[in-house]
Amino acid sequence: MPIFPFSEKDPIQHPGPPPKRSEVVIIGGGIIGVTTALFLAERNIPVTLLEKGRVAAEQSSRNWGWIRKQGRDADELPIVIEAFRLWRQLAEECGEDIGLDQTGVTYLANSDKDMAGFEEFMKIAAIHGLDTRLLDADETAKLIKGMSRKFKGAMTTPSDMRAEPWLAVPALARLAVRKGAKIIENCAARTLEISAGRIRGVWTEAGYIETSSVLVAGGAWSSLFLRRHGVSIPQLSVRVTVAATEPMPEIYAGAAADEHIAFRRRQDGGYTLAPGGSNLLYLGPDAFRHATKYLPALMANPLGTRYFPCAPSGYPDSWSIPRDWTPDSQSPFERMRVLNPTAERSGLRSVERNFRRLFPQFETVRLKAGWGGMIDAMPDVVPVVDHARAVVGLFVATGMSGHGFGIGPGIGRVVSDLIQGNASGHDLSRFRLSRFYDGSAVRLGPAL
Ligand SMILES: Cc1cc2nc3c(=O)[nH]c(=O)nc-3n(C[C@H](O)[C@H](O)[C@H](O)COP(=O)(O)OP(=O)(O)OC[C@H]3O[C@@H](n4cnc5c(N)ncnc54)[C@H](O)[C@@H]3O)c2cc1C
Repeated sequence: MPIFPFSEKDPIQHPGPPPKRSEVVIIGGGIIGVTTALFLAERNIPVTLLEKGRVAAEQSSRNWGWIRKQGRDADELPIVIEAFRLWRQLAEECGEDIGLDQTGVTYLANSDKDMAGFEEFMKIAAIHGLDTRLLDADETAKLIKGMSRKFKGAMTTPSDMRAEPWLAVPALARLAVRKGAKIIENCAARTLEISAGRIRGVWTEAGYIETSSVLVAGGAWSSLFLRRHGVSIPQLSVRVTVAATEPMPEIYAGAAADEHIAFRRRQDGGYTLAPGGSNLLYLGPDAFRHATKYLPALMANPLGTRYFPCAPSGYPDSWSIPRDWTPDSQSPFERMRVLNPTAERSGLRSVERNFRRLFPQFETVRLKAGWGGMIDAMPDVVPVVDHARAVVGLFVATGMSGHGFGIGPGIGRVVSDLIQGNASGHDLSRFRLSRFYDGSAVRLGPAL
């Protein structure tokens, strides 16, 4: 089975060298960095995006491709609703087929407890006028045909969407470049130059860029990068497994999941599958440092995570990774151009088995690819989107906690306005950096 395509072996699409000066520097070429660059460039703000490997090679191409309002945290919903409008607009503007389609998202209920959880979200859906509705067992069976078993019911949002991440994010990067952004792949940001509490520049592996504003949108690497500059975020990353089937007859055009299996119809007629069950957390210094902050999430779902005593060498929270380095020495970021965990064999076996169990009409389910990804998580399952108050000109947008693809363009627009000193148009207090240190209790976002 081939490894998922994006890797450091792929040709560089956006070569250097970096400019000597840029008004804004963005660190990280995932959906968050790319869309922020795009919206800044649209306002004619000189912006340079640095990507240590390839655009979208980490989470932003490896994800399931769900773009959903359903099951969202109430404080994220206004931004997601804006993101839906932006997705449509950007798909038009980029002039490439990114597989954007309004095919719905459905959560299947195995128990009355699941249905009760859905009822809670219905209250939020009503406030925002969403088209989310609950289905009974018969309606569920009609929506997704050929399932071998009857579910208690389901929650579905027909206006939710899907897109092909590995097409969408590179296409958005090309659009950002056409609007004037400079993107440089294979170029790690090593350190920030800070003096008198202000950003002065960024040291990269290819030289120095003078700037007054930096956005750290480094996904799973953000915490390692920021900590060296005295900004601590309790971010950890968990390993997950995904598989893609060969094209097969349609059972549902959208995306659906229960606790055993998640599946999403792709543009090529195959399904993207993921196993239910637990994620894998590698225990490292940050995991111990921030353990107490994760206790509420752990208690809410004690079996949701498996633990392994150490991460492979070079991973963001591995025991041996350097925590300090100088601007002129190789940093951990360029040592691992693309964080590319392999798919877990047991996860691949489980998706195949559970998908066939649910749809026994398919005698074989041929997996054509399997890959792993590291989800960057926060203790309360919602991101950090803020200005780091200790350093003027330093902005952080990270910890998207497994649902940053769908909301991505919304966060990009919001952050681009934060950087320009404009009002963001949304209440961002939930996403403030200080919430982990100002005595606030951890308020868990939905794990739906
Ligand atoms: C398997 C899986 C399934 C998911 N499914 C969904 C889904 O269906 N829907 C959804 O909404 N979300 C989903 N997500 C989550 C979503 O993919 C992420 O939240 C989102 O892609 C995060 O984007 P990002 O830009 O913050 O980070 P990333 O995409 O991880 O990008 C960060 C980039 O920063 C670069 N970088 C880091 N440090 C440096 C440095 N020092 N210098 C230069 N570059 C640097 C990295 O190389 C990386 O490319 C899923 C995630 C995974 C892994």
